[in-house]
Amino acid sequence: MQKITIAIDGYSSTGKSTLAKRLAKALDYVYVDTGAMYRAVTLFALDQGLIGEKEDIPSLIAQLPTIDLKFVANKALGKSEMFMNGKNVEREIRTMYVSKYVSKVAAIEEVRHMLVKLQQEMGNKEKGIVMDGRDIGTVVFPNAELKFFMTASPNTRATRRYKELLDKGEQVSFEEVLENVQKRDFIDSTRDVSPLRKADDAIEFDNSDMGLDEQFERVHNYTLRVITERE
Ligand code: C5P
Repeated sequence: MQKITIAIDGYSSTGKSTLAKRLAKALDYVYVDTGAMYRAVTLFALDQGLIGEKEDIPSLIAQLPTIDLKFVANKALGKSEMFMNGKNVEREIRTMYVSKYVSKVAAIEEVRHMLVKLQQEMGNKEKGIVMDGRDIGTVVFPNAELKFFMTASPNTRATRRYKELLDKGEQVSFEEVLENVQKRDFIDSTRDVSPLRKADDAIEFDNSDMGLDEQFERVHNYTLRVITERE
C-alpha cells in the first residue's frame, strides 16, 4: 500500500497525540509529536532563565542553534521519548511549569522557523507519517493527503488533562488546568505566525462525547478508505 502523510491538528488536550499514536501503530507509520518539540525548547528557555519571571527573547533566539532535539525510541515502553541536548526530558516537558510558558515560546517566529524545518525534514525522509500539532495541515505539510482537525469543549479537555496530571503525581487544581488550556488556545489561535486554525481541507472531529475506541475506529476506517481509494 502506498504510504501517505497524515496531519492531526487541533486545540489543547483534544486527545490528538493519543489518537495519532494509535493510528500510526495500526498503520505501521512513524508518529511525530510536534508539541514535544515546542515544549523542549520552552524547557531550555526556562533552564537558562530566558523565559519566566525574567525574559530575554533575543538571547533565546541567539541560542536556538545550540538546541539539539531528538526522538529516541524506548522499546520497553513502546514509544518515542524527547531528548534535548542528549538528556531525556520526556517527563519534564509535560509538567504544568512548561505548559504555562510553551505557547509564548511557540509564538516566536524564529522558534517556529527552526522547528517547522525539522518537522518537514522528518516527513520528507519518512513517508508514512502521522504528525500532530497546531499547524501541520496549514504550514508544515499543506499538501498532506489526509488532515484531521480535533475539537472538544474546554471543560472536557481540561478534565482529561487534569486527570493526566494527577496520574503523574502533579499537584494542580482543576481551575488552574482549565485556565491553562483556555489561555494556550487563545495565544495559539491569535498569534501572528502560523496561528492555530483548521485547514480548509481538514476533516473536523468533535470528540467531546466520544470514547477513545470509537474515535480511533472512525478515524482508522476513514484513513484506510482514503489509502485504498488512492491505489
Ligand atoms: O500538543 P501540546 O499540547 O503538547 O503542545 C504544546 C504547545 O506547543 C501548544 O499549546 C502550542 O503553543 C505549541 N505548539 C505549536 N505548534 C505545534 C505544536 C505545538 O504552536 N505544531
